Amino acid sequence: MAPDSDHLLNPKSKRRGTLGCLLTFGCIAIPFVLFFNGITWLWSSPEGEFLVVAFCVLIVLLSVWEIRKSAAERHDLDAAIRQIKVSDNRFDYFIGDEDYTPDNPKERLYRKMFHFPLFEVYENSCAKCGDDKNSLEIDHFIFNKSEGGCFIMRRADGSLVNNAVPLCETCRKINSVNSYRDLYSKEELLYLFQKNLVMTKKLNETKILTPEGHVIEQTELVN
Ligand SMILES: [Zn+2]
Repeated sequence: MAPDSDHLLNPKSKRRGTLGCLLTFGCIAIPFVLFFNGITWLWSSPEGEFLVVAFCVLIVLLSVWEIRKSAAERHDLDAAIRQIKVSDNRFDYFIGDEDYTPDNPKERLYRKMFHFPLFEVYENSCAKCGDDKNSLEIDHFIFNKSEGGCFIMRRADGSLVNNAVPLCETCRKINSVNSYRDLYSKEELLYLFQKNLVMTKKLNETKILTPEGHVIEQTELVN
């Protein structure tokens, strides 16, 4: 008989299982019983009543303090994101017909000039999961292709905004069917907007688009 089936049919092992359950139950039940007996015992004297009430008040105060602390941390995180996030209103950007097509001139320019800086900023890791092996590629960050999202977004004042992140194959699949708000947690967004600021600065350091938004050919580039 195979060792596994022998183990399953061995009544001794079943007894050990029952004993284990009893021990677990005892470990949980005994402290509860002792706790409630202690409360009952304390409640039988005026001093004990005071101690029980003080203990309950302390627990309530600690809970309120913890809830307020979590809310304050969330508020701080929201404020930090608001300070560094770029507009996610697509009407703040010039979006042309060609922006809806993959591998348009602006995206080709981005791949040519900013592929390595982008990967360097993200330390050659996926912006979502941090994986550095699962075939990283450039993907859209805030606006996806169906919204006219380009790796380079042009604002009304002519300034450029980076809309590209390196993503692994798995995260690219998730990104293709989710908005950036659904894909990233608030902590991740704070990290991404910080990285995006660095890339946005790089985009604006070099004249890569004409005022009309056309790509300036590589030979005409002014550094
Ligand atoms: Zn990933």
